[in-house]
Amino acid sequence: MSKSRLAILGGAPVRAQYLPYGQQIIDEEDIKAVVKVLQSDFLTGGPAIEQFESEIAAFTGAKYAVAFSSGTAALHGACYAAGIGGGDEVITTPMTFAASSNCVLYQGGKPVFVDIDPLTYNLNPKLIQASITPNTKAIIPVHFTGQPAELDEIMQIAREHNLIVIEDAAHALGATYKNRSIGAIGDMTMFSFHPVKHITTGEGGMIATNNPVYYEKLLQFRTHGITRDQSRLRDNHGPWYYEMQFLGFNYRITDIQTSLGTSQLRKIGSFIEKRKQLAELYIRELGAIQEIILPHQLPYVESSWHLFIVKLQLSKLNATRRLIFQALQKENIGVNVHYIPTYLHPYYESLGFQKGICPVAESCYEEFITLPLFAGMDQEDVMDVVAAVKKVISHYSNQ
Ligand SMILES: *Cc1c(COP(=O)(O)O)cnc(C)c1O
Repeated sequence: MSKSRLAILGGAPVRAQYLPYGQQIIDEEDIKAVVKVLQSDFLTGGPAIEQFESEIAAFTGAKYAVAFSSGTAALHGACYAAGIGGGDEVITTPMTFAASSNCVLYQGGKPVFVDIDPLTYNLNPKLIQASITPNTKAIIPVHFTGQPAELDEIMQIAREHNLIVIEDAAHALGATYKNRSIGAIGDMTMFSFHPVKHITTGEGGMIATNNPVYYEKLLQFRTHGITRDQSRLRDNHGPWYYEMQFLGFNYRITDIQTSLGTSQLRKIGSFIEKRKQLAELYIRELGAIQEIILPHQLPYVESSWHLFIVKLQLSKLNATRRLIFQALQKENIGVNVHYIPTYLHPYYESLGFQKGICPVAESCYEEFITLPLFAGMDQEDVMDVVAAVKKVISHYSNQ
């Protein structure tokens, strides 16, 4: 009995050592690749950047890719390239990190939040139509947890209404939708290389696109709006000459970072395979627990499993989500919550967004708990999480 006493009630935790929810893997090859750049002529503006871009383009099947200093900067670039400006409305999901809609605000546009599907937690395509107005310019679907959003429906609606689709694929490098790679489907697709994502550059992001016009705009936006391209200059004072043609930013990534990215990308297959195996183990081991709902997977997509989220059925528990969360933390399991619906943040409230816009996202938020999942975990780590979930849930179950 004392063996199974919850750690939050003074018992021994399931694990002695804290298991984080996500973590990068860096090996000797990664370190060598970075050191090589440090000893080279270019710390930034060199060949490692284009190499990483072309390898991401090849991996995703996109014609072009432009690397940025972060996924957020990349989203900003995509909104600029899409021509989003004052008064333009952009449809997106609230079940995401704030960057998915902040990029619209950077450009003076207005995010319009559409609710999620209760099974996949992705943007519900059936609700998009009703939110389209003459001011709608784009849709930003997010491939939440790595499971692709309903892209056929979204692309169809976009074509009918002449909208640009910018995919937030921060969770979905290596995912597929109906056997097509994420990155070559929408007009522009953003990837993030933050250390919790599939591969890392420390900070970093990318836009993949098949569109040469967007490609040129993204390159110029990333570097102050400056171009040296002879064919695009208004004047030409000489060989030194360049022009700043619009207000861009310094959103460049470095060769130090992109050399790490290229080295990491060599291992993407094994990283995703490992995440998939661990997720399958979670599904097998947690399947019988009535008090939680496991992530539903569409039959025609392959998730890249960035996050593993369980939904608590609070009516079957004598505990709040907060208590379950804290009890799991005390068992040394690094649980997390993804995400607070974006428009509930005080800044969005100050813009006039109110509670109640997306009731499904709001109720999911109340019940979600993210379990640890990263390629560096092993099966024993998963079994520790499973043991902790069973211990805590059975303690608070009212079934
Ligand atoms: C990580 C993330 C971003 C932002 O990427 P950064 O590289 O951290 O700027 C955007 N959207 C989602 C859904 C993310 O998870």
